[in-house]
Amino acid sequence: MGFPDRAEFIIVGAGIHGLSAAWRLAERLIDRGEEVEGRIIVLDKSGIASGASGIACGVVRNNYFQPAMRNLMAHSVGVWESDPEAFSYHPVGYMQISCEAMRNDVAQIYSEQQAIGYESVFIEGEQASTHYMRGIFDDWQAKGVTSVLHEKRGGYANNTTSIYGLAKKAEALGVRIMSGVEVKGFVTEDTSAAVAAVDTNRGMIACDHVIVGAGPWVRDFWNMLDLPKQIAVKDLDGTVHDNVDMWRFWQLEEGVLQVDPGMLLTNDGKMPPVIHVDTDAPLYSDEDKSLITDEMWGIYYKPDWHFGGIQGGAAPYKVETPVDDVAIDPYGPSSPEFVSSHEFAHMWVSALAHCQSRFEGKMPKYHREPSGGIGCFTPDSFPVFDRVRDNVTIIADSNHGYKMLGVGRLVADEVMGDEQELLKPFRFDRFEKGELHPTSSSPFPWS
Ligand SMILES: Cc1cc2nc3c(=O)[nH]c(=O)nc-3n(C[C@H](O)[C@H](O)[C@H](O)COP(=O)(O)OP(=O)(O)OC[C@H]3O[C@@H](n4cnc5c(N)ncnc54)[C@H](O)[C@@H]3O)c2cc1C
Repeated sequence: MGFPDRAEFIIVGAGIHGLSAAWRLAERLIDRGEEVEGRIIVLDKSGIASGASGIACGVVRNNYFQPAMRNLMAHSVGVWESDPEAFSYHPVGYMQISCEAMRNDVAQIYSEQQAIGYESVFIEGEQASTHYMRGIFDDWQAKGVTSVLHEKRGGYANNTTSIYGLAKKAEALGVRIMSGVEVKGFVTEDTSAAVAAVDTNRGMIACDHVIVGAGPWVRDFWNMLDLPKQIAVKDLDGTVHDNVDMWRFWQLEEGVLQVDPGMLLTNDGKMPPVIHVDTDAPLYSDEDKSLITDEMWGIYYKPDWHFGGIQGGAAPYKVETPVDDVAIDPYGPSSPEFVSSHEFAHMWVSALAHCQSRFEGKMPKYHREPSGGIGCFTPDSFPVFDRVRDNVTIIADSNHGYKMLGVGRLVADEVMGDEQELLKPFRFDRFEKGELHPTSSSPFPWS
């Protein structure tokens, strides 16, 4: 097959969002009794799963303080559940285990989950929380936990396997996925804001519609489309903040403890839910008992046979480099600059031991290979899903997105002319209008 000179739909990025959109567009054409062949092309400068989707921890949860995020996640969890095998999805559930400072926020999440029929259990009080956790892990010992939200749906999926599963679904319907094709810019007619063609390292491809699902590279596409680097943001109090950077990067700190993943099975020998703990209990080193922090900290972890151990992470840190100078490539573990730090390993393994005695003394088992990667965040740390030119839609998930398997599908429905209620709270003009999402007391910018 030669290099195409035209395609009706061009999707940039063979990650979770681009492929999800391609899959749905193909379904829509087929539903109309039309041919797909040659009409939908996914372009990726590297290949399938070579961006954030291919290194994600893979956690799928509903636990969000923002109602719009929760509704969207419930939709995506439904898509994960539609074909667990193809998506390499493990529906083991998810637990948000919190200290007192977060109890009210999490109680609200629980009551709103009940309102939308998302199955979960909420335990309150220190003794009741410890009792509940010891019913799952008999060595549970985290201090100061006063609530446990146990989501019965959700869990995690294996990053690259699921993205390949998604690519297979799209290709089976006639989508063409092209690796090694780098988008360099967009060609527009003088008189129109519509993009007429996509300029690539291998030549020009004319098109009718463009969907950009470029993960952390969204900054570059924003610039290519001449969108504003700085914007005015009206906060929830009505105060307008001028000249706020549209994008900022955070480093996601993740790693693996190279032990038998089976060491984290539950008391009755089952796969445990994904564990997420946020607490202000002082955290001491598991190596020398020195104080690591007496401020709020958070970790998450799960047994993972794909990563070969106990895999998880901690709260990310802000990249201080000016946004246009951040080197996104080489990405992820290949980056010379943005990989998980030694401090992370010390903190995370100590935190595991703080929670469960089975992790005490396990620091030497920490896998020292580079891991983690950067994510590109919006001013309020929530996604932008919007049409930014007459025929260009951007899926900028603000690093929430591996779990959002359904978002590309919803975007594809919008491109086909059906506006989606679930996407409306994520339009770009919310910053100007002051329609921001509420924020919680969590130490993570994504909760
Ligand atoms: C370490 C880490 C752990 C994470 N863990 C989780 C998690 O557990 N759960 C969760 O929900 N989210 C998680 N995330 C966030 C999640 O991975 C991302 O939000 C999501 O994968 C982004 O998907 P995407 O399709 O937008 O982008 P990506 O998967 O990054 O795909 C973008 C693609 O665009 C391609 N591309 C870039 N520029 C060009 C160009 N000029 N021309 C052509 N192609 C181009 C890239 O090669 C890449 O393949 C994590 C992120 C990181 C970094």
